[in-house]
Amino acid sequence: MTDLPPVPVFDGHNDMLLRLWMDRTDPVKSFVEGRPQGHMDLPRARKGGFGGGIFAINPPSPSIGQIFELMKAESYDLGLPDPLPLDEARSSTLGMAAEMLRLACGTDTFAICTTVSEIRAAMAAGKIAGIMHIEGADGLDTDFETFEVLYAAGLRSIGPVWSRPTAYGAGVPLKFPGTPDTGPGLTEAGRQLVRECNARHMLIDLSHITEKGFWDVAEISDAPLVASHSNVHAITPSPRNLTDQQLDCIREHDGLVGLNFATCFLRPDGRMDADTPVEVMVRHIDHLVDRLGEDRVGLGSDFDGAIVCADIADLGGYPVLMQAMRDKGYGETLINKIAHGNWLAVLERTGLA
Ligand SMILES: [Zn+2]
Repeated sequence: MTDLPPVPVFDGHNDMLLRLWMDRTDPVKSFVEGRPQGHMDLPRARKGGFGGGIFAINPPSPSIGQIFELMKAESYDLGLPDPLPLDEARSSTLGMAAEMLRLACGTDTFAICTTVSEIRAAMAAGKIAGIMHIEGADGLDTDFETFEVLYAAGLRSIGPVWSRPTAYGAGVPLKFPGTPDTGPGLTEAGRQLVRECNARHMLIDLSHITEKGFWDVAEISDAPLVASHSNVHAITPSPRNLTDQQLDCIREHDGLVGLNFATCFLRPDGRMDADTPVEVMVRHIDHLVDRLGEDRVGLGSDFDGAIVCADIADLGGYPVLMQAMRDKGYGETLINKIAHGNWLAVLERTGLA
């Protein structure tokens, strides 16, 4: 390791809001003083260079607690979790949005940002810059009323589905090995959601959606195609990863892929196992850079929602990945693009300007 100051990071995906909401503790106090039970807090953000990212609101399925244990097996097929009733999903969605608003109101070290210039200003001022994102639109009614209210609260990014089917489309199951072509594409309401997001220059996130849903969005969306936290299917054949054909389409649409740090999407054997070398992360980055070009690869750690390599461990571990890229011959310009520059540029191309 070098003594260089940490490279600033803007990370495309984390699940901290879900953990804060489930913990039912004071979110400001836990974030500012530290929450050793999770991956993310302010002290470790400072250590690792985390300047901001996309914060997911992810309505939980009741079975969420056992998933990681089951994903330690050699192969697994957990199927699709049951659809969530709208009222239940809307309640947790609003709860997590409230946690983010409390963070922004309760500390001068966290800002909800709606444009890239706000992100740059927050990062320059030493604040954590957060984009509000929904991972699974289960809680959004198809009259788009909750959507309007959350847009006013700062929502600027939506993934129409997590694994469960929603009114908008279908996600891929938690399964290994497998292809992303596991079910139907967008519903008519899903097409409307894409149009509503396009009209407001919001990001549409393709991580978790079926391959058919991916092609549907590619066909109708005006926005760059972005998968915030997915990896390379040619290395790790998980339905959550992207085939080379999908990567080529993301390149054509000038989008971006964020590298997911979850070992089940990195390891060729698909296991959730912290005993995984960091070099495997660089192997995926190499393939993404090769396929997408240097301007369309970023990070999407999935911190607080995954088991990551032991040497990375948490938010404080980004410098270990940066060093692994240096060791592989990556220059500082490319490392800075991957760490934050490419994310800010694709958000600008999406219209968060
Ligand atoms: Zn996810």
